[in-house]
Amino acid sequence: MGFPIYLDYCATTPVDPEVSEAMIACLQHPQGFGNPSSRSHYYGLQASQQIERARRQVSDLINAKPQEIIWTSGATEANNLALQGLASNFEINNCHIISSKIEHSSILNVCQQLQQRGARLSYLATDQYGLIDSQQLLSQITENTRLVSLSHVNNEIGVIQNIQAIGRQLRQRGILFHVDAVQSVGKLPINVKTMNIDLMSLSAHKVYGPKGIGALYIREDLQSLLSPQLYGGGQEFGLRSGTLATHQIIGMGTAFKLAKQKLASESQQLMLLRNRLWNGLKKIEAVVCHGSLEHRIASNLNVGFKGIKAETLMMACPDIAVSSGSACYSMQQQASHVLMAIGCSETLAQSSIRFSLGRFTTAEEIDQTIELVTEKVKQLRSLAKKNDYCYHYACP
Ligand code: PMP
Repeated sequence: MGFPIYLDYCATTPVDPEVSEAMIACLQHPQGFGNPSSRSHYYGLQASQQIERARRQVSDLINAKPQEIIWTSGATEANNLALQGLASNFEINNCHIISSKIEHSSILNVCQQLQQRGARLSYLATDQYGLIDSQQLLSQITENTRLVSLSHVNNEIGVIQNIQAIGRQLRQRGILFHVDAVQSVGKLPINVKTMNIDLMSLSAHKVYGPKGIGALYIREDLQSLLSPQLYGGGQEFGLRSGTLATHQIIGMGTAFKLAKQKLASESQQLMLLRNRLWNGLKKIEAVVCHGSLEHRIASNLNVGFKGIKAETLMMACPDIAVSSGSACYSMQQQASHVLMAIGCSETLAQSSIRFSLGRFTTAEEIDQTIELVTEKVKQLRSLAKKNDYCYHYACP
């Protein structure tokens, strides 16, 4: 038997073979193992040169300067460093931060911490399509607003926010703008300069790179405003101490280089496959697609199957690897806060599945998925009807 069809690319991506080759070469060759901070000898210098090349590869994809990239262990750390690092320099009791109700837990939980320390937080609502209205954002700004933190693309529904318009407004008002670009980098063109982004969080493992490595972009002239959250040897311009994980960084650099080459053609291909999937699934009775289809990355589809628990459907389809909501919540079996924020009932949120496609998805896999899901939904619904429990198409 083959492996299940992988349609959970928003949770993580397989490592691209070119990335793993570059990482293995780093681990196996004498040019790779040196401590990149040991610049007094050949080995350290070799490692350091490779790290600087990776820094350029990452900065190239987002039009930043290499010195504006700080390596971290992933986007969770980058989000923590951005928000906590800035907040340490704000007068916390006079500090207002704006974020949104549909952020990832690595933003929401940091915001909660800052709130407990005395900051005032506002969480923007979205419309039923998952979009944030920039007028609503402007109306929340006060003279104490220091920072706005929003994700570019939502990890559950794939909806794209108008970061450029928001960035322009915030820059005019001198308010710092942090963007979580984990789900957009490599999928959408990003230019931190024209989009007026001051800080941005990145992760390698959503872009066919390894887990455990990410980066924070921070505008060069703002670096003195950021307090490190880890103290030690003063690596990364003093902003993030710790010996750099050379092989991971080389993996991220290679992944970002590939993303730049493939971005346009890949998103066209994914759009075709995603539309094929939705055209197939929408033939099933009583299904809904959550979030805007128009303002959405090509690879994401989030579908509610009314009257069926997502967990039950996923258990009935072990040959497809998908998820209900964010991977970070999947152990908790809670209804998705994102779906609830866009107006879904708890029941419908718990009946929803995220399908996310990627570089290695094929048309055959999409067709098999449509066939399997259609069959299982029918079976589960007729079973529920027979047993006369919890069967309500008009799920509130
Ligand atoms: N932000 C978003 C929007 C994400 O989707 C994720 C990963 N699910 C993260 C942050 C955390 O990234 P990492 O896994 O690199 O810590």
